[in-house]
Amino acid sequence: MTLHIPFDNSYARLPERFYVRQPATPVEAPQPIVVNAALAAELGLDAEALAGPEGTRVLAGNQVPDGAAPLAQAYAGHQFGGWVPQLGDGRALLLGEVVDIHGKRRDIQLKGSGRTPFSRMGDGRAWLGPVLREYVVSEAMHAMGVPTTRALAAVATGEHVIRERGGLPGAVLTRVAASHVRVGTFQYFAARQDVEAIRLLADHVIARHYPDAGSVLDLLDAVVAAQADLVARWLGVGFIHGVMNTDNTALSGETIDYGPCAFMDRFESGKVYSSIDSYGRYAFNRQPTIAAWNLAQLATCLLPLIDADQDTAVEMATNSVNRFPDAFGTAWARVFAGKLGLREWRENDAELVNDLLTAMQTGAADFTNTFAGLAEGHARDAFADPDPFDAWMPVYRARLDAQGGPDLTAMARANPRVIPRNHQVETMIGAAVAGDFAPFRRLLETVTRPYDSPAADLAVPPEPEEEVKMTFCGT
Ligand code: AMP
Ligand code: MG
Repeated sequence: MTLHIPFDNSYARLPERFYVRQPATPVEAPQPIVVNAALAAELGLDAEALAGPEGTRVLAGNQVPDGAAPLAQAYAGHQFGGWVPQLGDGRALLLGEVVDIHGKRRDIQLKGSGRTPFSRMGDGRAWLGPVLREYVVSEAMHAMGVPTTRALAAVATGEHVIRERGGLPGAVLTRVAASHVRVGTFQYFAARQDVEAIRLLADHVIARHYPDAGSVLDLLDAVVAAQADLVARWLGVGFIHGVMNTDNTALSGETIDYGPCAFMDRFESGKVYSSIDSYGRYAFNRQPTIAAWNLAQLATCLLPLIDADQDTAVEMATNSVNRFPDAFGTAWARVFAGKLGLREWRENDAELVNDLLTAMQTGAADFTNTFAGLAEGHARDAFADPDPFDAWMPVYRARLDAQGGPDLTAMARANPRVIPRNHQVETMIGAAVAGDFAPFRRLLETVTRPYDSPAADLAVPPEPEEEVKMTFCGT
C-alpha cells in the first residue's frame, strides 16, 4: 500500500516570480481524521494509502511525496475594497497537480501547512474548526451542484495553535481545486506592470479552464459568465460567502476560501454573518454586485492584452464586464425556475420569485425548508407567520396550473432538504475539539446527500437560543 501520486506540475513550470518553492513545516504528531474516498478515486489516488501512515505524513506536510513541487503562490488583492499589493499563500502550499480520471487537471493543496514568506503576522497554521467547517461546507456545495474547491482529507497535527480563544488543536486540510488562480493573482502582476507574467498567466488559465477562448477578451467573457453562474447558484441555496475579496475569487469559477461563510436559516435579503464585515459589503444580496466589481478588477489587469490601443481595450473590457447583469439574470432565472418547478421562464416569473422572497422575509421563513417544502405542500410550515405565504400561494398555484403542474423533477434537483446549518457546524466543531468526530461524520454524510430525507434533527432550523448570529474567519 505505497502511496503514488502521479503529479504533473504545470504551475511550477511557470517562472520563479509566480511563487516561492518550499516544503511544508513538519508537525508534531499527525493523525488521520478523514479521507474523501470518492474524490480520491476521481483523482486516481488510493484512498487507503492516503489514510495510511505514509499518506498521513504526506497530508500533514511531514513528507514530500515523489513528484511533488511544493510552492506558495504569490497573489495580491482587494480586501473589503482596500488594495493589498501582496498577499500570497500564507498558510497553504500547492503540492502539485494531477490529471483526474476525466482528464481534468486538479491542484492538490495543503492548507494550514506552516509559515511561508507570505505569512506576514500569521503562524501559517489552521485549527480544527475552520478545517472541518471547510470540509463539510465545500463537500455540501459540491453535492448541491455548486462549483467549488473540494476537500480530499483532513489530518490533526498533534499541535496546538494559538487563537483568540487560547490553544486549539491544529489541523491541515487537503484542498483540491481546478486551480488556485485568483483575480488577485492577475492583480499581483498588474501592480508590478509585469505584462509578460500576465500573458503567461492568462495562457495558463485559458489552457486549464477555457480552452475554447481564442483571445484574452474571450477569457474575460468566460470568467464573467462563470462568476454569474456561480453567484446565482449561491443565491439559490442561501449561501453567503462572507469574504468576496478579489483574492478569494477563482478564475475557474469555483467557490474558494471558505472562511466566515454561512447558509441562511431564516431568509433575510441583506443577511451578514461575518464578524469582520461591519458594513455589510458582502451581504447576501450584494454578492452579484461584488462579483461584478471583482470582475472589473480582473478586466483592468487584462487591458494590455486585450488591445494595444488603451481606449479600445477599455471599451471592449467594459462591454464584457457589463454583460454580467444579464448573464447573472439568466442564471438566476434558471436556478429559481428549477426551485419553483417552472418549465419555462415567463414574463412575470421574476416578480413571482421576488414576491415569494419578500413573503419569506416578512413571514420569517426558513430558506431551505420553504423551497424543500414547495413540492411536498409543507412550505407553509417553514414560516413563523404564514400570512404572507398564504397571500402568495394563489398566484403561484395559478402559474403552475397554466403550465399543467410543477416540474417535480427539476424541483427535486434544485431544492436541497438539508444544508450545513451554522449551529450544527458549531456543535460539530465543539465535539471534534473534545475528541468526538462522530458528529462530523454524521453531518458530512447527511449534507453530502442533500436531496435525501435527512434525520429530522439536521433539517430543523435553530431555536432562537441556538442561532449562530456571527461567524469568524477562524484563520
Ligand atoms: P483568507 O482569509 O483565506 O482570504 O486569507 C487572506 C490572507 O491571509 C492570505 O494571504 C492568507 O494566506 C493569509 N493568512 C490567513 N490566515 C493565515 C495564517 N494563519 N497564517 C499566515 N497567513 C494567513
Ligand atoms: Mg483567501
